[in-house]
Amino acid sequence: MTRIWVFVEETDEGPATVGLELLTKARSLGGELAAVYLGRDSDENFAALGDHGAAKVFHLTPGDALPTAAAAAAVAVLAGQHSPDLILFGLTYTGRDVAGRLSARMGKTVLSNATDISIEGDTVTVTNEIFGGTTLVDTVFEDDAPYLVIARPKSFPAEPSGGGTPEIEEVSLPDVGHAGSAMVTASHTEVLEGPKLEEAAIVVAAGRGIGTEEGFKVIEELAAQLGAATGATRAIVDAGWVPYSKQVGQTGKTVKPDVYIAAGVSGAMQHLVGMKDSKVIIAINKDEEAPIFGISDLGIVGDLHKVLPRLIEALGNR
Ligand SMILES: Cc1cc2nc3c(=O)[nH]c(=O)nc-3n(C[C@H](O)[C@H](O)[C@H](O)COP(=O)(O)OP(=O)(O)OC[C@H]3O[C@@H](n4cnc5c(N)ncnc54)[C@H](O)[C@@H]3O)c2cc1C
Repeated sequence: MTRIWVFVEETDEGPATVGLELLTKARSLGGELAAVYLGRDSDENFAALGDHGAAKVFHLTPGDALPTAAAAAAVAVLAGQHSPDLILFGLTYTGRDVAGRLSARMGKTVLSNATDISIEGDTVTVTNEIFGGTTLVDTVFEDDAPYLVIARPKSFPAEPSGGGTPEIEEVSLPDVGHAGSAMVTASHTEVLEGPKLEEAAIVVAAGRGIGTEEGFKVIEELAAQLGAATGATRAIVDAGWVPYSKQVGQTGKTVKPDVYIAAGVSGAMQHLVGMKDSKVIIAINKDEEAPIFGISDLGIVGDLHKVLPRLIEALGNR
């Protein structure tokens, strides 16, 4: 295995963190490493890619159109020219969209939801978690390279390597006709109070046990006291009590904080898969049989509406 590419998209904070995580992982797999970067021209962002191991950056500049169809077409052409062995994508909207389109264009299998990747000789093995992370499944590609893999965020740490400035190759986005005609008419940056959910050291998450939308206030209060981010189960996102951006789990975000406080969360496997690797898990649930207690380090059997105000008060008194 010699040539690995990592697709990295730009975010408001620079190259997407999951892209840097994948560059770090790819470095450990050996061989030539390049980033395919979809974002504006920025020496700072190119330097971050180099610092995480990319010796070369194929730079795709998005225009006013939704760039994924054109980006996939550009990567397909590049792959034809350079024959990468493995192309890694992060599990983001853009990463999934480009990987799916590339898979269709190239007639290549894409393995998704990876939590680990290993290479032995020419064999690429992709690991997935199923049944709420209780079972690991290894899958190997049997067709020819390039192999396409979409990996879950937080599967690997993002660690700079002290690498130098990468070589930049500008790549133009081709005209893909109707497929590329969707225009970006507006974009909104969510205003964040407190730390970012995926990067917070402490997360206070709420489930249906909070009872009402109003019930989330006590979660926010505790989070503010602890300098924590707030999270949620899908049940309360679907109920419209909190925005989707707070959802933790299979169809939400993956978090690995030092402390995860789950209040009124039952512990469905689709939720656990997004938080089970937190260092310390504290659960508050009035049902002592709730599955969340099966993975928690500390459990309080009680009504969160009684427990949390007392906790907030105790913290306030410190
Ligand atoms: C394909 C698919 C994907 C999914 N993806 C996700 C996902 O990404 N994230 C996710 O979270 N879920 C996901 N789900 C939904 C998941 O299966 C559960 O339905 C959901 O996680 C349950 O949320 P909950 O724990 O808030 O609610 P419930 O299961 O209703 O649990 C509420 C808990 O609160 C406790 N409680 C009630 N009142 C109090 C009180 N006053 N004090 C203390 N405890 C109290 C109850 O004892 C109970 O344990 C998905 C489901 C499917 C099918």
